[in-house]
Amino acid sequence: MAVNLRRVVNKTLYHNPMNNFELNEASSETRYDPLTGQLVRIFPFRTIGFPRHDWTPYVEDSKKRFCPFCPGVLEKSTPRYPEDIIPGGRLKVGDAVLVPNLHPYESHTAVVVMTPRHYVPMNEISVGMMLDSFTAGLQFLKIIEQKDPTGSGNGSINWNYMPYAGGSLIHPHLQVISGPEPSTYDGQMITAANEYFKNNGANFWDDLLKLERGSERYVGKTGDVEWLATFAPRALVDVTAVLPSGTTTGELSENDLLEVLRGFKNVIDYYDSVNVSAFNSVLYFARKKDTGFRIHARIVGRYTIFPVVGSDVSHLQVLHNDPWTLHMPEVLAEDLNKFFS
Ligand SMILES: [Zn+2]
Repeated sequence: MAVNLRRVVNKTLYHNPMNNFELNEASSETRYDPLTGQLVRIFPFRTIGFPRHDWTPYVEDSKKRFCPFCPGVLEKSTPRYPEDIIPGGRLKVGDAVLVPNLHPYESHTAVVVMTPRHYVPMNEISVGMMLDSFTAGLQFLKIIEQKDPTGSGNGSINWNYMPYAGGSLIHPHLQVISGPEPSTYDGQMITAANEYFKNNGANFWDDLLKLERGSERYVGKTGDVEWLATFAPRALVDVTAVLPSGTTTGELSENDLLEVLRGFKNVIDYYDSVNVSAFNSVLYFARKKDTGFRIHARIVGRYTIFPVVGSDVSHLQVLHNDPWTLHMPEVLAEDLNKFFS
């Protein structure tokens, strides 16, 4: 087994104004993503302690503005696919409706309007709503891979819940991407996972689970899907779900998808309980030839620091490509365990 959980504790000495200028030693951690080797930084706060965020004024304001996803408007204001790609122009699963993104950023970018409801508070996000929406996204990825085999195949299903997470509309929606090349981080994972498979004759995520089961970062299971507080977080309260098998969109079973979404629901309930009021999540896939890759999911919390118009993205992410977080993964796992038992 070659999974390396490398962490370095950095010590800093200063005379602390909060403690009568006594000489204090402060610590931080530098960790390395065990798959890609990417450096991440942790400024360890024991508790995250955010004030409760009230979305009401933003939601009320958004109702006065134009929303292309509300019932009655969606039919007139969202694009339609050509008939030979999606018969009828829009893909419907339960209450979810998949439409082309009016402003594409890849050869295939779709939006799934998850529900007719303009605003769904965190505690009302249901597994059923997610299941309809992710199923629509998954069906779309499979259709596109069949219709445009050279211009697709590197797919993911993403969710930016609320404006802190980059969601430009309050109305819940997923972002579905498929293109001829993977996104940057996806590509790094795919390359490293293929390399790992070649060198070790084993799947990286299987080996990661062997190492993490029983560790202080192990969160629990939903069905055959296993949940970890991510060793090297990309953002606040970063959680990874590893599926038991599968690489491509065609290999994701209905049951494993359901179990991922049951786990998302647990994590979202936890976020709500600690006042993390927005999140990003993703379901990553790769191509058939990427034999070292395993379908997995990730969900991270998003927040703002004071003032309310602030951002959790700083010089570190934008100018140095160093993800950072305030919360130790080991503390996160301890808090999150209860939501998985
Ligand atoms: Zn709406």
